Amino acid sequence: MTALDSLPPLANKTTLLKQCGWTPGLITLLLGKPDLEKRKAKGSYRWVEHLYSRDRVIEAMRDPRFIARAEARQQRIELQVQRKAQIPQQYRGNWRDALPEACAGMFSLNRYAKHRRCSELHKVEIYRLKNELIEALYRHGYCSASWIHRLVLEAQLCRGCGGAGDLGCERCGGSGIYRSARTLEFWCFQFEVAGKRFCWHQPLDLVKFSPLASVPPQEWKEFEVKEKPVPMRKDQFARAKQLLDWVIREAGGSGENSVKQEVSQRGAVGPFDLWQLKVAA
Ligand SMILES: [Zn+2]
Repeated sequence: MTALDSLPPLANKTTLLKQCGWTPGLITLLLGKPDLEKRKAKGSYRWVEHLYSRDRVIEAMRDPRFIARAEARQQRIELQVQRKAQIPQQYRGNWRDALPEACAGMFSLNRYAKHRRCSELHKVEIYRLKNELIEALYRHGYCSASWIHRLVLEAQLCRGCGGAGDLGCERCGGSGIYRSARTLEFWCFQFEVAGKRFCWHQPLDLVKFSPLASVPPQEWKEFEVKEKPVPMRKDQFARAKQLLDWVIREAGGSGENSVKQEVSQRGAVGPFDLWQLKVAA
């Protein structure tokens, strides 16, 4: 194991996680308390570094529980690589044939991204795929309507002082208003893919191409941002994301870089922000 050769006499957690296949859970279980705690500081930021002795780390990595986990992890990685390689064969290289499955996958992922238990990192990944899929679908003629929706959020009164604006209220600084009124703008898209309809929306500033504005379809109702059931099983997410990646790439990408940068700069963006605003208030 080459990772172990470069292991310092005292290794911190980051090294164990990144180089040696440890997880936070395994560290707690098999290593327990660190051999040394070092106080560190960088500017005004202070933290405690947990250090584990090399000998103890290597010893613990012989534990059957560590080995079992490392093997399981390796198997998962191999399985993923295999599955990814099968996608083009499965669709005989024709990304359009894969669109119904890809869109169904995005339908579930997009719902999942609004769930509280979806991690920030996962949200960023899902919204990147959503951005790129929407642009690819639009460019290739699957869009049946696209329109701008303005969502007006009313001002919210301060709960600290009941909106009275007491001078001493720390929550609102005496204004009585917790959050002022604002308008959020979205592009809404309706796509028709193999007889199925998908309706997705994006914050205006994330849409890097210029859709034609049409009137909203009559049956369209203003969207609600809340947790809805996710039809797809969680263990199918990885496959769905691989398929989306492939479809987007085969469809010729879609301003991929600009969208990616935008997402990584702003963190998770999309309707979830709105939902958070409502919950936070
Ligand atoms: Zn107040």
